[in-house]
Amino acid sequence: MKFLTLLARNRLALGGGVVMALVVLLALVTPILPLADPDVTDTARRFLPPFSEGALLGTDHLGRDLLSRLLWGTRLSLAVGFAAAISAATIGAAIGIVAGYFGGWLDNVVMRGVDMLMAFPYILLALAIVAALGPGLMNALIAVAAVNVPFFARNIRGITVGLAHREFVDAARLSGLSDTRIILSEVLPNVVPVIVIAMSTTVGWMILETAGLSFLGLGSQPPQADLGSMLGEARAALISHPHTSIVPGAMILIVVMSINLLGDGVRDALDPRLKSGALSRPRAATLVERKGPVPASEGRGLLEVQDLRTEFHVGPRTYRAVGGVSLHVEQGECLGIIGESGSGKSVTALSVMGLVASPPGVITGGAVRVEGEDMIGTPYRRLRDLRGRKVAYIFQDPLATLHPLYRVGDQLVEAIRAHRPIGRAEGRAKAIELLEAVRIPNAAKRISDYPHELSGGMRQRIGIAMALANDPDVIIADEPTTALDVTVQAQILSLLDDLRRSRGLAIVFITHDFGVVAQLCDRVAVMYAGRIVEEGPTASILETPCHPYTARLMACVPELGEGRRRLEAIPGLPPAVDKLPPGCAFADRCAKARAECRQGEIALSRAGPRAVRCLYPETPVMEAAQ
Ligand code: ADP
Ligand code: MG
Repeated sequence: MKFLTLLARNRLALGGGVVMALVVLLALVTPILPLADPDVTDTARRFLPPFSEGALLGTDHLGRDLLSRLLWGTRLSLAVGFAAAISAATIGAAIGIVAGYFGGWLDNVVMRGVDMLMAFPYILLALAIVAALGPGLMNALIAVAAVNVPFFARNIRGITVGLAHREFVDAARLSGLSDTRIILSEVLPNVVPVIVIAMSTTVGWMILETAGLSFLGLGSQPPQADLGSMLGEARAALISHPHTSIVPGAMILIVVMSINLLGDGVRDALDPRLKSGALSRPRAATLVERKGPVPASEGRGLLEVQDLRTEFHVGPRTYRAVGGVSLHVEQGECLGIIGESGSGKSVTALSVMGLVASPPGVITGGAVRVEGEDMIGTPYRRLRDLRGRKVAYIFQDPLATLHPLYRVGDQLVEAIRAHRPIGRAEGRAKAIELLEAVRIPNAAKRISDYPHELSGGMRQRIGIAMALANDPDVIIADEPTTALDVTVQAQILSLLDDLRRSRGLAIVFITHDFGVVAQLCDRVAVMYAGRIVEEGPTASILETPCHPYTARLMACVPELGEGRRRLEAIPGLPPAVDKLPPGCAFADRCAKARAECRQGEIALSRAGPRAVRCLYPETPVMEAAQ
């Protein structure tokens, strides 16, 4: 059902599908239509033009009714094309699965045979096969199927090789299933989508090939008509009576075109990567559709985010990932953003420099000011100029963000070169300097390492060095230590802390760990379901959390020397951001929630440096602020 809706949303595919359905329907009902006999000749009525009496599309050189021949011919061409596609797919897939699954010498022998077939020019091979078997529609079908088998075999073998050693196949082996059972129950279901996709994109091609053979007189034999042979017979009268060629020619065009459009649509709808928009190239910067007025600057901080709203528009759904976030960070200050996974921390961070992928991301409101300049809706050139130079990012997984095939030194130089020209020697010197700054020992040698030669902690240092490459003012670190073990995490945190002090960096540090916040951050903002629910100086919040959510988050963290205490997990799950409840999003998981909590917007109440978005806080914010 999902597949059909996806397919229907693709206009071109839908058009192709409708036309194809009409053509197939016509071909199916041809025998019961009141048509003239397609093979009866009447030389007195040769070459009648279209719209003649008794011959809607005219007649051919033997006086046969073109409409009738066209419909019967289409029927034949479709049948042969589909039969060829299905045979090629079945045989090719069987060869591919067997070769890919068993591997070894069998794979070698079979695939070299397939390679030999592939080495022949396509049409030549088909011609050779028909020449050997003799002309005739059945033989043309065999020839077309045969030349397409290698294509399917190669494709499917590739997929099967990838599957044959996956854990679920091993598990099936361990449970004692026979090879045949494994192929049928484990491998086949995984390759069927690929087979269908490959078929949907080649059926049109096979219809063309069959028509080509018939055109050359090697396919359907007179008087039987298929689209190719009709074209072939009309060749002699191409100039004098063009309608005899145009009629079958147009039908071939319509059929192949609509099959290909439909096939492309089927492929797009079946391929999960394409479904999530891999084909639609994301914009260079997040799409901005501001609905309200731009909030006026309060002149706070090097980076000031005000009422930021970022949504994802996926089909009919709207995910409000960031629903009005305000925060700021001063020079030399570290602001922590903490919250459970999915609370909108990353999307907030990425929105700052327009890095949220669009589609589906849209910034629908707010302002992001870097030194007073609003970044939202700023021209892409300006944004690119500031990315990395004013505001730099450190991401969670350095293995995914570093290019695997370049030396780390070259990647550092490239990051610098994005903003200013730099020579070889200077680049090298700067790269070494950066690695030393992030305390990588033996930096001169390390710059020529590849990412995979470094440990996780080292790689994250490279990530930090890269962020430092252009001396930014603000660094946004999105869970940079989550993938590391505790000791390495401690090193990275103290490194960031030193860098902040020595360079006067403003750091926005995203994490889900209150322990990390306590170690590094001056202030902390607690995020829940796309909003900030509490904010204030770290020490003060650790001492007296106001929002029940903050208190629960802190209860999850074990403390050294505290003796035995039950660590409390927060019951329930955060709400899905496409259907947020009215009022407090935490109410469903909160022990103190009352009816008022679920009604209407809850404002952020401030007192001194503290702020909380709660009607019944653990401690009144006024008290906590003292
Ligand atoms: P985290 O706080 O763990 O960094 P994120 O900022 O990555 O959370 O995600 C915030 C919310 O945005 C999540 O609920 C997620 O479901 C939603 N979201 C993120 N990316 C997309 C997307 N491409 N399409 C739809 N929803 C998304
Ligand atoms: Mg995240």
